[in-house]
Amino acid sequence: MYKYVAFLVVFFSMGFAANAQKNGLVANANSPYSKLQSVDMHDVKWTDGFWKEQFDVEVQNTLPYMWNLYHNDSITHAYKNFEIAAGLMKGKFSGPSFHDGDFYKVFEAMAATYAITKDKKLDAEMDKAIALFAKVQRKDGYIHTPVLIEERWGTLGPEELKKQLGFEKYNMGHFMTAACVHYRATGKTNFLTIAKGVANFLYDFYKKASPELARNAICPSHYMGIIEMYRTLKDPRYLELANNLIDIRGTTNDGTDDNQDRIPFRQQTTAMGHAVRANYLYAGVADLYAETGEPKLLDNLQSIWEDVVYRKMYITGACGSLYDGVSPDGTSYNPADVQKIHQAYGRPYQLPNATAHTETCANIGNVLWNWRMLQITADAKYADIMEQTLYNSVLSGINLEGTAFCYNNPLNVAKDLPFKQRWNKQREGYIKLSNCCAPNVTRTLAEVANYAYNLSKEGVYVNLFGSNMLNTILPNGEKIQIEQHTNYPWDGKIVLKVIRAPKSDFAFFLRIPGWSHGASVAVNSSVSKDVISGTYAKVQQQWKKGDVITLTIPMPVELMQANPLVEETKNQIVVKRGPIVYCLESNQLPDAIHVNQIKLNSNSKFEVESFQLNQRNIMRIGAEVTVNEPNKPWHTSLYQPLSNSKSKPIAVKLIPYYAWGNFAMSEMSVWLSY
Ligand SMILES: [Zn+2]
Repeated sequence: MYKYVAFLVVFFSMGFAANAQKNGLVANANSPYSKLQSVDMHDVKWTDGFWKEQFDVEVQNTLPYMWNLYHNDSITHAYKNFEIAAGLMKGKFSGPSFHDGDFYKVFEAMAATYAITKDKKLDAEMDKAIALFAKVQRKDGYIHTPVLIEERWGTLGPEELKKQLGFEKYNMGHFMTAACVHYRATGKTNFLTIAKGVANFLYDFYKKASPELARNAICPSHYMGIIEMYRTLKDPRYLELANNLIDIRGTTNDGTDDNQDRIPFRQQTTAMGHAVRANYLYAGVADLYAETGEPKLLDNLQSIWEDVVYRKMYITGACGSLYDGVSPDGTSYNPADVQKIHQAYGRPYQLPNATAHTETCANIGNVLWNWRMLQITADAKYADIMEQTLYNSVLSGINLEGTAFCYNNPLNVAKDLPFKQRWNKQREGYIKLSNCCAPNVTRTLAEVANYAYNLSKEGVYVNLFGSNMLNTILPNGEKIQIEQHTNYPWDGKIVLKVIRAPKSDFAFFLRIPGWSHGASVAVNSSVSKDVISGTYAKVQQQWKKGDVITLTIPMPVELMQANPLVEETKNQIVVKRGPIVYCLESNQLPDAIHVNQIKLNSNSKFEVESFQLNQRNIMRIGAEVTVNEPNKPWHTSLYQPLSNSKSKPIAVKLIPYYAWGNFAMSEMSVWLSY
């Protein structure tokens, strides 16, 4: 009883400490090496336009669909696993070993949505799930249903973290993250209390475990998770654990590039291995840097970032180009020693389109990583990548109605191939055995508003554009309220209106996208001033209610080419407008014409028009293409003389890449010959 009282006192005093700072998606207001801090979970509400449409789809379709899916034991068995592990019924674990973690991601989406909607039904649903988690959790804090079900009903006994592919830490990582988001969204501590047990368990485990055992960490979401626990509860042991998790990587002889532990992190300067695991690791290290400021961590992250962005990332922001790769630097040329890497960051410029693996989770990892890099550096280049990835290779992971999902996100899809491709080319409601991406995109799209702004001692950073209301408290304690009005990404005019101004002067930092040319800013009726692309334009003064800032970003259609070292895209171009990458679908072409036979007329007029697709507002671009007719069918030849045939021009409409595949099954290509 005494212990219990003492715990409560400590806990609530910590709770107050946490309340004194901003409680955003990450709570980095007191992180000594973070230049920017997050806004609160409920500070930004989409009011109109692109992201409001997407958030409405999230609330009305995606979240209920996913919550029901993960409660439907005839399909996913995720919630049922918890019920069996809690002892409510006898049964066996069913599903992939990362099933628990995927349920936590859906839970996190619900908590983030609740922060905005305050829908009591969501709160009640979450409380019910939390009560079940409490029943499942072992006394020492451990929670992972495959093992707990065996302990309760089986004969195998505890396996605890011994299976490297057991995904226990991935699951526990998402558990801690979801608990922090839930606490910040609801103010309730019921989930956080259970997560504290998990964090303590991991701390104790790593204290005692051998390096071989402790190293095991597939898909390290727990770096981000444990640092959020540290930020929330201020327990220094959690920061010590996060540091140890980085120290221990690459210290055993059996590490692999697949898992980024062939060499210690502090020796890693290029992106390697499994792209989801890599991006989660980099995001976690960025979180650690925000707390410790160790220069080596930031140096390596920046070097790896340049390797990704200059050499290994798709124009859609997608990461992980190869279904299977081998370690470029692995042990030897002896075939027996070559390390296989699943969904690999390939070698530089190795970026195939049709067989791009580009798992939605890797692309989300790119967003998580870049948002953290933005906050520790305040450098706009990271916000550019975050935006590029969100609009293209994250949104492509979900259909417009919000209930079907992609595991991988190829940039070229062809029908009737004379060989079998490993991955499905259509979105599915449930991707058996690898449904990790669907819950991940569900939570990400619930949380985009949190990425839109950051705060610093100097003022407000505007990272993403979309009509919204920002209602927040500046780090000096003064209240501020801003309305943003825009039809971005379809139009480059952004208006910020001051609704409530603080007494002291402060600055707006407006992101001027790196892709833009000739952007300008005007305050009230002043003459527009040109601003520099790829920076945050600072506008500082004493603000009053009714002041208006107008940012104008020209948004012409642009034709993009790739570095000539990317062999797969030689003599091809991409149509891009603003942050949106466009593609051609075969439904625009005569029957029997394949998208890979098409040449784009680069002198097309490229007329932009708005239209509705599945009740979503989209801009499409008119263009002209011709068909490259072969002399004889390709299925009987690999090479043939260049055809002289000249087809008539065909008028087509290009649509945003993220919207592909929302008509019937169609061929699609982002890169087009010209
Ligand atoms: Zn995934």
